[in-house]
Amino acid sequence: MADLYDVLGVERDADQDNIKRAYRKLARELHPDVNPDVETQEKFKEITAAYEVLSDPQKRQNYDSGGGANFNNFGGGGFGFGDIMDAFFGGGGGNRGPRPRVRAGQDGLIRIEVDLAEACFGVERELNVESAVLCQTCNGSGCVDGTKPSTCQICKGRGETQQVTRSFIGQVMTSRPCANCQGLGSVISNPCRECAGDGRVRARQSVSVKIPPGVETGNRIKMTGSGEVGPGGGPAGDLYVEIVQTPHEFLLREGDDLHLQIAISFTSAALGTTLSIDSIDGKIEVLIKPGTQSGAIIPIRNKGVTHLRSGGRGDLLIHLQVDTPTKLKKEEELLLRNLAKLREETSGQFRLRKDDGGFFGKFRQTFGM
Ligand SMILES: [Zn+2]
Ligand SMILES: [Zn+2]
Repeated sequence: MADLYDVLGVERDADQDNIKRAYRKLARELHPDVNPDVETQEKFKEITAAYEVLSDPQKRQNYDSGGGANFNNFGGGGFGFGDIMDAFFGGGGGNRGPRPRVRAGQDGLIRIEVDLAEACFGVERELNVESAVLCQTCNGSGCVDGTKPSTCQICKGRGETQQVTRSFIGQVMTSRPCANCQGLGSVISNPCRECAGDGRVRARQSVSVKIPPGVETGNRIKMTGSGEVGPGGGPAGDLYVEIVQTPHEFLLREGDDLHLQIAISFTSAALGTTLSIDSIDGKIEVLIKPGTQSGAIIPIRNKGVTHLRSGGRGDLLIHLQVDTPTKLKKEEELLLRNLAKLREETSGQFRLRKDDGGFFGKFRQTFGM
């Protein structure tokens, strides 16, 4: 029989923390879910059996004094799934026994849609959320007035029942939550009629949420204590409000900058004009200088979305396109031909140009041309 201390790789004077840590480390490596082969499974059983003895001061003392290495014949302590889960998740060692009737409530998550202007400037919303709230009839106790839970007769208040099963390593004592009391160790004989003993009921409640300026899709606002009330009237969890910003019909958001595409006539582009544009701040005047080219980008500073943290604002970038006239009337065509003559433009004339923006500009940037 291998020495149990060697099996876990710890010193003989190792304290409980060290033993637990050593087991946890080995269990992670050797867990059947990770390594299903037979040899690893045997090893896993071996370390688990060693841990079962060394983690129990009574059994450890017994083992140390040479009393018993026959750890297959498990005594009253039992070794259940809970211990393995403890070892895995580091649950505060030794918190066996019934689980508390009063427990913390769950967090909630709700998604709300805001439009671009609301995302930019912030908004206050009244939400109607269905959630678990404290039962007013029993004030969370779950019992009819004047009564209280009584000790479970099946598990005698321990919250778990034990079972001996045979397996390849011999008899194994397993513990599982008591089915009679759901592991609580006590039962409510006279449950509150309103909440059936849960201490809380489902109800719609109104929650007011302040959405700060500058939010974007995916941002979450934490509403402390606005989640579900816990079983037995336990402290409420938190409510997270997740933002979904609906797209604007014309304004395209890129970070905190906004982009707007506008097409103007070629005469407006040549002669210059003033446009009245719908921005998130309402109508703004945009000056188009004479001789503006198609593809020009006109930046309007500080008319973008508010920066969530710093409070400044992004820019509105107006992308201009010049529309070439189509379906010319006879008179218009004549005017254009005269214009071309006046400007000494001949048919088929062109110039090679260096374009800084658009596809070729990006192409140059990418390839360092
Ligand atoms: Zn109640
Ligand atoms: Zn019970």
